[in-house]
Amino acid sequence: MAAFTFLCSECGASYPEGAVRYVCPRCARTQVRGGATRGVLQLELASLPTTFPAPGFAEPSALGEWLPLASPASLPPLPVGGTPLLPVPRLRAVLHMPHLWVKDDSRNPSGSTKDRASLLVVAKAREYGFDTVACASTGNAASALACLAAAAGLEAVVFVPAAAPQAKLVQIASLGARLVRVAGSYDDAFELCLAACERFGWYNRNTAFNPFTIEGKKTVALEVAQQLAPEPPEVVVVPVGDGVILAGLAKGFADLCRAGLLSRHPRLVAVQPEGSAAIARAVRSGAASVAPHPGAASVADSLVVATPRNGALALAALRSSGGGAVTVRDDAIVAAIGRLAAATGVFAEPAAAAVLAGLEVALAEGLVQPSERTVLLVTGSGLKDVPAAARGLCLPAPIPPDLEAVAALFAV
Ligand SMILES: [Zn+2]
Repeated sequence: MAAFTFLCSECGASYPEGAVRYVCPRCARTQVRGGATRGVLQLELASLPTTFPAPGFAEPSALGEWLPLASPASLPPLPVGGTPLLPVPRLRAVLHMPHLWVKDDSRNPSGSTKDRASLLVVAKAREYGFDTVACASTGNAASALACLAAAAGLEAVVFVPAAAPQAKLVQIASLGARLVRVAGSYDDAFELCLAACERFGWYNRNTAFNPFTIEGKKTVALEVAQQLAPEPPEVVVVPVGDGVILAGLAKGFADLCRAGLLSRHPRLVAVQPEGSAAIARAVRSGAASVAPHPGAASVADSLVVATPRNGALALAALRSSGGGAVTVRDDAIVAAIGRLAAATGVFAEPAAAAVLAGLEVALAEGLVQPSERTVLLVTGSGLKDVPAAARGLCLPAPIPPDLEAVAALFAV
């Protein structure tokens, strides 16, 4: 059993596990409805292993003492993580970056990095004795919760903006979750889920509000470090919406440094769409806090959030890592879907392909040097939003089923 305490990222207070806990009660008194989550808690394991988890994170026992569980047997019986770190030789050549890798997290069971958080949250729900877990999501976290809850035999209730891509809605409904489509934004869905969990007694997986979301996502950092050992990455480029994947990466690398398995924390570079760039704006302007981005909108639906719930922690993580943030235009994101896929074989959703567009901006700005050991985190599958990818393509007209028609196509 991995003993742990909760640490408030704002006031530093520490709390034992005890009963179900979400945020720091002291800081939560300053919570503004619709505002960033106050008193986000992080976990501190009483002791950390001195070796990397065994290869193959897909096996729950491999996570062993790295996760805050009473027993690995609480984990849902579905492999999560253990995704490949691809050397991408063709993309390396195009970008003149000899030490570039793609961490393909689209290969998780529901197709996104969010499975890592849902894996741990569903396990904790089992340990706490809940039969229903709820979350608000732009789509991927909901799919992930629906997926892991289905495997574990728990009920999932998910609140998503009605405008979420159809593939995500169909995936959620197919997985047997109770799909609540909210005629509003992700921010509206988030508030509604908070209230519904309080009213109906469900376990709340809302991102950052539930501290196990950050802790679950740290596993991607453990894997990247293990896969590149003994030389750690120098830069990890990550798409950012609420800032929880970024905070999870930072937590994972911090744990590895604490455990003596990593000599330095990689720089984290956040990528946000120009139309939803609250955290990037704060980084780039040197602001002390993250101001909302009213009317946030982008083709990268997973990154669209007016008020990043985990903005403060994400901002602190970016700065303490020595990294930075860039913004990218929607047309560059759409173009990056095809460019990434054609150069690497990895078909990413817009939010995930944004890391390629973002890397190019970061190179141009000198935020990343071509010689650096750099990892692009691809957080979600392109199959989750095919219409977005189609925006960058012109599909060919049909031909008659005869060879001469084929020959005509290939005639010089
Ligand atoms: Zn606090």
